[in-house]
Amino acid sequence: MSFVDLPVEIGPVYEGERIRAKQMYVELGGPKMEKHFELVRVKPAKEIKDGQVIIKGIDLKDMKEGSTHPIGIFVEVAGPELEEDLEAVFERRIHEFCNFVNGIMHLNQRYTNWMRISKSAFEKGFNSFEMLGTILIRLFKAELPIIKSAQITIFTNEKEIEKPFEMAMEVYEKRDERARSINDEDVDMFYGCVLCQSFAPTHACIITPNRMSLCGSISWFDARAAAKVDPKGPLFEVAPQECYDEIAGEYEGINQTLKKRSLGEIDKVYIYSGMEFPHTSCGCFEAIDFYIPEVNGHGIVDRSYGDVAINGLPFSAMANQTGGGKQMPGFNGISIQYIMSPKYQQYDGKIEGLKSGIETVVWMSKTVKDRVAEFLPADLIDKIATNEDVTDINALKEWVKDVNHPIIETDGYRTATADEEEVDEEEYGALEGLPLGTQTISIPGAGGMGGFKLILKNCKIHCETLIIKKIDNKPKRK
Ligand code: SF4
Ligand code: ZN
Repeated sequence: MSFVDLPVEIGPVYEGERIRAKQMYVELGGPKMEKHFELVRVKPAKEIKDGQVIIKGIDLKDMKEGSTHPIGIFVEVAGPELEEDLEAVFERRIHEFCNFVNGIMHLNQRYTNWMRISKSAFEKGFNSFEMLGTILIRLFKAELPIIKSAQITIFTNEKEIEKPFEMAMEVYEKRDERARSINDEDVDMFYGCVLCQSFAPTHACIITPNRMSLCGSISWFDARAAAKVDPKGPLFEVAPQECYDEIAGEYEGINQTLKKRSLGEIDKVYIYSGMEFPHTSCGCFEAIDFYIPEVNGHGIVDRSYGDVAINGLPFSAMANQTGGGKQMPGFNGISIQYIMSPKYQQYDGKIEGLKSGIETVVWMSKTVKDRVAEFLPADLIDKIATNEDVTDINALKEWVKDVNHPIIETDGYRTATADEEEVDEEEYGALEGLPLGTQTISIPGAGGMGGFKLILKNCKIHCETLIIKKIDNKPKRK
């Protein structure tokens, strides 16, 4: 495959290229745009004109420097061995292939896709979406030889994108609905994915029916289809083998696979916990489940939420903490579909003595709650606050009490909210059992005024005695 007819270099070496606002010629999709998408569909060969790129809207050369536009990338592929189940996995490769281009930065997937094209690529002559379409078609056919023909339509205009956007949303919903129809117990094979190792070398996703990939684009069905047609490819089978803990989702086969695929970094994962041996996160998670020590509960914020979350941090700051392929108790990258799963962080719920993992959730950004509301338990839905209900931790503390959120029945909540005066020696002892994550202990000064905070990140404390003494600065009498 050759790209010598194109003005920019193309290859995996450019994956990971960052294009900052100052370096970009234009921005496509992303949080500033309402409607944008990328979609792959399998079609009969006769409906496709191989190699054709259609542009609906203005082309790159007619865009003003520094401007932002909608982007819809609609890829139609054909081949005798292709099946609908492969569409989502092909679609995920758009992210990778766009990032092969020196001068394109591509983030996310589906309707959260976000691209930047650099000034230097534009100056070199990369000035038409026809070139982008051609690159994608060539890469699709070269990297996935079961694709025999492909055509691409690129939408850049608000009016033109409307209908295809609606169509894409329907396709995503249909895929997700099917993914929700089975459970881990119904299958004897799980799957793994290492597509994101170019960004996070120690990260591999485990995909089961109840835990969709954290990027939200590859379900168990999609992974199964991909592993079948290309068993040596980035998606592969993971035989669960012995189940060590059903609630935690700890399996011998998952631990072994992750040890091998993470270059020895990770050797134990509870796929249904965000607090103990959590699944690692690369960088393209749809949402973050984060621990809120002040109420011993959890919050969930998604990528599209532009404000700070209840813990005072924006998504971007938490994403830095969460991603990178490390196990980060208290910060877990997740897909929106996983929140709807009956196994959602079920280990964390059980440890707290709750009915389910979702009962640990005390706050969600409205953007998340709107998407998952119909799948939340009826007796919990109104007890989960959003940014429209509370905006700071003190208000959240009041909220959980007012609505009688199940979290207030947990020992962890009682410890977290106990006044210093009430914390006796025994309760300090209980700190040892607190889950991993970020713990905050407020130590007021004399008379409850002033004082300071100790923030303990990702540590477990084991001690027989903890002595906190007031430092007496008064000069000693002679
Ligand atoms: Fe694969 Fe996981 Fe990356 Fe999605 S987030 S592409 S499933 S490694
Ligand atoms: Zn990723």
